[in-house]
Amino acid sequence: MTARLLDGKAIAARRRAALAARIREAGFTPGLAVIRVGEDPASAVYVRNKARAAREAGIAATTHHLPAETPEAELLALIARLNADAAVDALLVQLPLPAGLSAERLIAAIDPAKDVDGFHPVNAGHLALGMEGIVPCTPAGVLALIAETGLDLKGARAAVIGRSRIVGRPMALLLLNRDATVTLIHSRSRDPAALCREADLVVAAAGKPGLVGAEWIREGAVVIDVGINRLPDGRLVGDVDFAACAERASWITPVPGGVGPMTIALLLENTFTLALARRR
Ligand code: NAP
Repeated sequence: MTARLLDGKAIAARRRAALAARIREAGFTPGLAVIRVGEDPASAVYVRNKARAAREAGIAATTHHLPAETPEAELLALIARLNADAAVDALLVQLPLPAGLSAERLIAAIDPAKDVDGFHPVNAGHLALGMEGIVPCTPAGVLALIAETGLDLKGARAAVIGRSRIVGRPMALLLLNRDATVTLIHSRSRDPAALCREADLVVAAAGKPGLVGAEWIREGAVVIDVGINRLPDGRLVGDVDFAACAERASWITPVPGGVGPMTIALLLENTFTLALARRR
């Protein structure tokens, strides 16, 4: 391996400790409310980790776990209550939701000033217009990782693989807002390997194990792997062929231990940002 390892676990731990110190200095307890619906096993782990990390940072985290068959009207009423609750600074609905519930309608019901995931159309619109406020935690975590490499995004060629609302799209916009030249690759893109090979930075968020091989990577590129894929044998892998790409990249993230921990760190930072804004 010639690439340097971008150790998201260590960087996230450092940021969480710095945040905990800022929260202590601020002298109040930010409040984070998390709504989880149904029994998706990965969501259960994510929500537990988010709540634990929040408490460690000095944030009061409350989880509202409801059964899969909860009517949407009941969830909308809960969101309305949390919007009105002065102790709640930040609110998120854990995705994915059980069939029959509309993530779009539930997210649109969140007060944009408490939308810690940055998924509300108002916050997504601000990002698209280059007027960044609260931005989604995973792409924000990726930006924080890129900052650690020293890569100057101004004029850099960036390839983002995946165009979902929670990762790919906001990632591309964040990079564009920092003057990168962005290629957004999706399942219909022709010759994605050739498009990626042009890039100084590759962010893979397709959810396809091993999609990105060495032939996709330009010598010296920074490679960030957002993918989290569970293989039939139980192993957790990203979208990037780590061993092969590490021979060409200058920096590369591992899976696990890369982007995942950064997502949680940035969720906590977003919570504090919202809490401060509500006290101004
Ligand atoms: P998603 O909603 O399924 O979106 C996947 C995107 O990848 C789509 O835009 C899709 O294109 C594109 N895609 C799929 N196959 C492709 C291919 N062969 N070539 C090029 N593009 C392809 O997934 P997501 O929610 O964005 O998540 C992506 C991955 O990141 C998943 O593995 C997820 O588990 C992981 N993730 C990790 C974190 C973290 O904290 N580390 C957070 C969120 C998600 P189309 O639009 O054309 O269908």
